[in-house]
Amino acid sequence: MSVYDIVIGLEVHAQLATRTKIFCGCRTDFGAEPNSQVCSVCAGYPGVLPVLNRRVFELGLKAAVALGAEPARHVQFDRKNYFYPDLPKGYQISQFRHPIGSGGEVEIDSPDGTRLIKLVRLHLEEDAGKLIHDASGSSLVDLNRAGVPLAEIVSEPVLKTPEEAQAYLIELRAILRAAGVSDADMEKGQLRCDANISLRKTAADPLGTKVEIKNMNSFRHVRDALAFEITRQAKVLDAGELIVQETRLWDPDAGRTASMRSKEEAHDYRYFPEPDLVPFEVDDERIRRIRETLEELPRQKRTRFCDQYGLNLYDAGVLMADDAVCRVFEELAGKYASAKTLANWLTGPVTAYLNEQGLGGEALGAGRMDHAGFLELLVLVDGGKVSLKAAREKIFPEFMKSGKRPSVILEESGLAQISDDASLITAVDEVLQSHPGPVADFRAGKTNALQFLVGQLMKATRGKANPARVKTLLEERLGR
Ligand SMILES: [Zn+2]
Repeated sequence: MSVYDIVIGLEVHAQLATRTKIFCGCRTDFGAEPNSQVCSVCAGYPGVLPVLNRRVFELGLKAAVALGAEPARHVQFDRKNYFYPDLPKGYQISQFRHPIGSGGEVEIDSPDGTRLIKLVRLHLEEDAGKLIHDASGSSLVDLNRAGVPLAEIVSEPVLKTPEEAQAYLIELRAILRAAGVSDADMEKGQLRCDANISLRKTAADPLGTKVEIKNMNSFRHVRDALAFEITRQAKVLDAGELIVQETRLWDPDAGRTASMRSKEEAHDYRYFPEPDLVPFEVDDERIRRIRETLEELPRQKRTRFCDQYGLNLYDAGVLMADDAVCRVFEELAGKYASAKTLANWLTGPVTAYLNEQGLGGEALGAGRMDHAGFLELLVLVDGGKVSLKAAREKIFPEFMKSGKRPSVILEESGLAQISDDASLITAVDEVLQSHPGPVADFRAGKTNALQFLVGQLMKATRGKANPARVKTLLEERLGR
């Protein structure tokens, strides 16, 4: 298979975090009984009038600012005309000529370093209903989603690999969440992605024929679908054939994309200004207020974590993957000597424990985990009172389950590490006496023998000795 230059662009639909729909007062609760959150407006009865939800407009502007886009000064909606059974009005209210945000960028880490992925635009629109195809072959319509507010975010076609596409989606979701614009929960359909992909011989060639993959609702699906398409299209091109411009769907079970419709069936949407919604202007003061009240965004937070706590970018990123864990870190960082050790504990054994128990990061909240007790455990390890291994595997889980102080658990469990030199020196001398061979080897320059002696001592103390201290004492005794 030849190597091609890959060009990927993504269109993301993010559900805005409102309690009610974009043009009526119906609720947007997830999982409600089908057609229980519907009125004459969102069901598209003739003659009804939409009223723009103020919160949707505000969140749209905020999303634009958070993504570094130029926020709209003139707000206007357009009708996008098409027929589908889940769209009773026969048109969708969207923004065509005047998107709520123009331009913008999302910064991602790629193997070539940091890359700025430019955005084309961000516009507001209403979601359509949902068709449910039942076992008898009938199709049912649920209009609960009709009129749910969406922001469509369109990237420039500048992504180069499926991994970059995934990194872009992860960062985009983090920005939307940090700004409080969308919960972006993919399992609830609050973040969906369409991908355009084309291949060409080299980056200097004109763009190849693009294929669109529709409606993916997990990062893994996006990555896998793109990887599949790259191989499929490369094979077509290698055989000297042409790529068909079409829309395809990803089938995660079969692990392949399949054609949904070709270009001949493409729509002409005949956009025109929505006559039922009055256009209005946005003044500078409103935009200034949004900028002022914008929450700390992920990229700024990662940088701050590096500056303030001395973490590296990778550790900061891992820590920020869970908001609740991240909050606990910030609460405790000032009360403990090493931010790095604290971060390692939280993202390592603590997160592993939460996953194992099926708990979320909330289980670490002040009311549920004894913060002073947790820090006591870290100090016990630092002071050599207990091995890191025993602390992670035995004491921490027991602390979480029983709520007892780690020092109490340590006393009761007999896991206390022997660090005091008096008892260790006796043990060291015994080991040296009973293993004259390795002692002679070590003195003859075979440094590996030291490791053997450390092992013997750990065995003699049933793992309770502090290995670092043992090593130092052995070296001192052996006259090194
Ligand atoms: Zn409604």
